[in-house]
Amino acid sequence: MTTSALNNNSLNLLDLVAKNNFGTFFGVSQKVFDKVWNNITGADQNSVVYISMEIGADPDVFHPIKDKLTDLEKTDSIDPRLKKFVNKLFQGPEKIPCYGGGLGVLAGDTLKSFADCHIPVVAVSLLYRHGYFSQIVDSKIGQIAQSVEWHPEDTPGLYLLKNPETPEEPLQIEVPFVNEYDQETMATAQVWMKMEVNHSLDYFVPELLLDFSLAGNPSPIRDAAGQLYNSESSIIKATQRRMLGTGILPVLQAIGISSYTLHLNEQHGVVVALQLIAEELIKSHQHTDLSLASDDMIMAAADKVARKLVYTIHTPVKAGHDRFNKAVYAGISHKSCRHILELLAHDDDSPHSYNFTTLAMRVNRTANSVSRLHRDVTHKQFPAFANKITAITNGVHHLTWISEARAKLFDSFPELKKWRENPGVLQNTVQLKNDNHFRTYLQRAWEKDTAILYDYINKMLLHHRNQMTSTWIDPPNHYSNIIDYDTKLNPKVFTVGFARRFSTYKRADLIFDNLDTLCAIAVDNNWPVNFLFSGKAHPADEPGKSVIKLILNYQKELHIKSNGLVNLIFIPNYDMHIAKMLVSGVHIWLNNPKRPLEASGTSGMKAALNGVPNLSIMDGWWVEGYHDGQTGWKFGHEGPVDEADLSESPESLLYAEDSVSFYQTLPLVLEEFYEVDAQSRFLDKAIMNLCLNTPIFNTHRMAAEYLQKYNLDLPSELQSTMDNFAALYNSNE
Ligand SMILES: *Cc1c(COP(=O)(O)O)cnc(C)c1O
Repeated sequence: MTTSALNNNSLNLLDLVAKNNFGTFFGVSQKVFDKVWNNITGADQNSVVYISMEIGADPDVFHPIKDKLTDLEKTDSIDPRLKKFVNKLFQGPEKIPCYGGGLGVLAGDTLKSFADCHIPVVAVSLLYRHGYFSQIVDSKIGQIAQSVEWHPEDTPGLYLLKNPETPEEPLQIEVPFVNEYDQETMATAQVWMKMEVNHSLDYFVPELLLDFSLAGNPSPIRDAAGQLYNSESSIIKATQRRMLGTGILPVLQAIGISSYTLHLNEQHGVVVALQLIAEELIKSHQHTDLSLASDDMIMAAADKVARKLVYTIHTPVKAGHDRFNKAVYAGISHKSCRHILELLAHDDDSPHSYNFTTLAMRVNRTANSVSRLHRDVTHKQFPAFANKITAITNGVHHLTWISEARAKLFDSFPELKKWRENPGVLQNTVQLKNDNHFRTYLQRAWEKDTAILYDYINKMLLHHRNQMTSTWIDPPNHYSNIIDYDTKLNPKVFTVGFARRFSTYKRADLIFDNLDTLCAIAVDNNWPVNFLFSGKAHPADEPGKSVIKLILNYQKELHIKSNGLVNLIFIPNYDMHIAKMLVSGVHIWLNNPKRPLEASGTSGMKAALNGVPNLSIMDGWWVEGYHDGQTGWKFGHEGPVDEADLSESPESLLYAEDSVSFYQTLPLVLEEFYEVDAQSRFLDKAIMNLCLNTPIFNTHRMAAEYLQKYNLDLPSELQSTMDNFAALYNSNE
C-alpha cells in the first residue's frame, strides 16, 4: 500500500468515498480521485484515450477493493453513506459480460496495468445490456447461445454518471447519425463509468461505457446496442461500429477530457477519425458545409488527424477486419462522410466496399502488431505501411492471472520481494531453481490449484448428470453418463488445458485427427491423460460451432479406445474465472492454431506466469516465449511465412502434418511428467517460465512499450520506473 490512509487496519471506509459533479464513487480517496480527474481533463492534453469495442475485466478474477475490505473484515456497514456501496460490493454480480474473447481481456489487462503504473489513461467502450452471449452445451445439439441477463445497476464498480447541471438525471450525450435519406438524426447515450482501481487503491483508470439501449432512440440504434458483435446483418454490425466511433468525441467533450492521443485497440472505433477530419476541415476552412471540401483539403486534414492516433492491429484473420458494402454506408452516414471514405477507405480487393482496416492504417502516427511474427505477417499484408508498423508483443496482467497459491509462494521468498509492483522481479527465480524449498513449495502450490480445478470439474460433471433428469439438456460430457457419486476425475492424471474462442484457424480438434494414435500413446505406456477443453464459437460462426460438436463426439470413442485412460471434458460457458482456474491448474497448456494466423495469443502467457509450460505450434507469442525448449515444447510446421500461408480455407489448415507432429511430441512431455528420473526436468521448465517469461509477457512491460509511442510528459520518477519495465524487452527486435 502506498496511500497512507490505507496503511493501517483502522482504515475508515469513508476515506474511500469520492465525489465530483458526475456522482459519488467508492474505492479510492478524494485525493486520488481528484488527481486522476485532473490528469485526464488538464489543459495540457497530457493523457491518452484508449478505444476498444470490448473490455474484459470481471471482478471475480481481480477485485482489489473487495480484497482489501475482506482483509479488514469490513464486509458490511450500517453507515447510510457506505451501506449501498459495501452491499453491492459483497452481494452484487461479479461478472461484466461485455467481452467476447482475447481482444477484450487484453484491453482489461492493459487498463489495469495503466492503473497500477499511474498512467493517465481513460478508456471508451460500449455497454451491452445483453452482454455477449451465454453458452449452453448439449451433446446432441452442440452450442446453444442464450442471451445474458445482467444488471449494470447492481454491479459493483459501475456508476451511471450524472448530469452536472441536473444531478437528478443521468448524463446524456447526443450522437449524430444519418438515416437513409441522408438526414441527420440524433441518438442518445447514457454513460456508465467502470472504475478500474489498481491493486494499491491509489490510482484508477476510468472506463466510459456508452449505453445506447434507451427507449427514445431510433430502433436501428437500439437493435445494434444490445449485444456485442451482433452480426445479424451488416447494417447492425456497421451501426455498432459507428456507435463506438461517433460516441467518442461527444463523451470526451461532455466530461471535459482533453487528451491529445487516441489509441485504437483494433480498428472497430476508427469512425472517430472521420469526425476528427470533419472537425479539422471546419476549423481550417472556417465553414461548415463539408460538401465544399476538395480531395486535397480532406487529405491535408487527414494528415493532421493522423498525428493524434495510435493504432494496434490484432489479427491477420479476415473476420477481424471490417469491410462494409458502400450501400450499407449510404443508409447510415452522411454524403460528406462517404466522400472521406472514398479517399481513405478504398478496398483494393473489392471496389464496392469500404475497408476500415485500410482507414485505420492510413490515419495514424504509428501502428503496431502484437508479436514479432505478426509484425512480419502484417508487413506482407500491408506493404505500403510496412515502414510504420512495429511490434509490441502482448502481455497479461500478472496480478489478475497469477493464482492465489502461486502469489503466496512468491510472497514467501525474499528474492521475489515486490513482485507485485514489478513483475520483472520474477527473473530472480533463476536463483531458486535448485532450491529444494522453492521447488517443493511450487509443486504444492500447483497441486493446490489443480485440486481447485478438479473440484470445479467434478462438481460440474455431477451437476450435468443431475440435469439429465430435471431438464431437456443432454449433458455436454460423456463422462457424466458413466460416473456415479464415488467416481471422480483424478487430479494426479496428466492434465492438458485448451481454452479459447472456437474459430476454425485455432483448430481445437487438431489433436483428435487420429484417435487410434492418440490412444495408443496412453495405452502403450500406461499414461493416463485428461484433456480439458472450453470456449465459445461466435453464434454466426457455423464452422466454429461444428468444431465444438466434433469435440463432443470424440469423447466416448476416446474413453473406450483408451480403456478409460484418456478423457476429454468440455467446460461450457468459458469466461475469465474458468480461464484462471485452467491456466493455473492444468499441467500443460496446449495451443495449436494454424501458423501464422494466431497473431499473439494470451492464454498461454497466463499459464506461463503460473509456471505452467506450453505445448504449442510456433506461432504468435510462443516464437518469443519458447527459449529453445527451456520453457516447454513446440510442434508442427515452421519455416518462413508467405502469402499462401494466410489462407484460412479448410484444405489449407495442415491438419495431417501438424497432428502427426503432435503425436511425436506428446510422448516426450508425458515421459517428463510420469517417469521418476525425468520429472525434475518438468519442474525445471516450470521455473524457467517464471524466470524467462513472466518478466516479459506481462502488461506492465507492454504498457511501458506503448508509452514510448504516447509521448506523455510524466513525472521523472514514474518515467524511470516505466523505462525500467520497457528495458526488460524489446518487442521490435
Ligand atoms: C485469455 C482469454 C482469452 C484469449 O485467449 P487466447 O489464447 O488469446 O485465444 C479468451 N477468453 C478468455 C475468457 C480469456 O481469459
